[in-house]
Amino acid sequence: MPHPDTWLRVLPQGLFCEPGDFFIDPVSAVERAVISHGHSDHARPDHNAVLATEATLAIMAARLGEGRAGRVQQALAYGQSIEQKGVRITLVPAGHVLGSAQVVLEWQGSRAVISGDYKRQEDPTCLPFQPVPCDVFVTEATFALPVFRHPPAQAEMRRLLESVALFPDRGHLVGCYALGKCQRLIAELRQAGFDRPIYLHGAQAAMCALYQRFGVELGELLPVPRPQKRGETVLAGEIVLAPPSAESNPWARRLADPVTALASGWMRVRQRAKARGVELPLVVSDHADWPDLLETIEEVGAPEVWVTHGREDALIHALAQHGVRGRALHLLGREEDETEADIAEAEA
Ligand SMILES: [Zn+2]
Ligand SMILES: [Zn+2]
Repeated sequence: MPHPDTWLRVLPQGLFCEPGDFFIDPVSAVERAVISHGHSDHARPDHNAVLATEATLAIMAARLGEGRAGRVQQALAYGQSIEQKGVRITLVPAGHVLGSAQVVLEWQGSRAVISGDYKRQEDPTCLPFQPVPCDVFVTEATFALPVFRHPPAQAEMRRLLESVALFPDRGHLVGCYALGKCQRLIAELRQAGFDRPIYLHGAQAAMCALYQRFGVELGELLPVPRPQKRGETVLAGEIVLAPPSAESNPWARRLADPVTALASGWMRVRQRAKARGVELPLVVSDHADWPDLLETIEEVGAPEVWVTHGREDALIHALAQHGVRGRALHLLGREEDETEADIAEAEA
């Protein structure tokens, strides 16, 4: 049985399946790509052939433009398999965002699972992560430090709703990533019983509409209205979702004395929230936290784990103590959502 390191290689463009002649989430345009999910660090433009779930293909078309989302697009449903030059490809839910998939590859009796980005927390907007036993598990490590423990999202929503009740004269401006986090927050708020309209910055609207087309219930969503008079403010007592950097834009001045919130796994780090002037940090993440990373790796039972990006040193060290071999792949160009770079850019 050939070990996956003989048929999965790290090339400058990314992880390459040699016998199948395709890349997984390559960072530049290639002939043949399997795409795990629609975030731009995984779904790059201008591949010739793209294989992904139907939702991921739709997200790519919406974000990259129809003409740049792959010349030939092939949708593969969760749990179904196809063969590409003798390599069996199956997409399995990753629980990260709508359409997100782990890429399961089988060749000559050995199996590698490339998990893309994933989380284990419940998320009303996508199917839950499904563990697949394998010989090599390829994982992210965005939050691979023991300090990162994400509380249940519902607990964070209760904190947000308490603040809304406490400050009826102020708007609540919640910074959140446009693909995934935004829709999850809306669905979590609905689950927490918030049934009033939720207001969206223009940058959040397209992905919400796409989620709704795919049957995700988000309730009533409205654009942020313009003030009628100069100096007037709007949306006191309401919730507004906007990109993480929007609170520093002139755009935000139309909101009534907004309470600034930010939903990110990084909000676990208090100094970071403080430095950004976030009044209400919400620890909501679409990536696995430290306990979930370790538990997932134990669950899939792989004797060897390859780490794509993040805090690989800490994770590989912890794995060694459990007798699991770890290897850092040092893939370039990863982390679009919830990155330090993202936060830094928002700070600028
Ligand atoms: Zn992602
Ligand atoms: Zn990513």
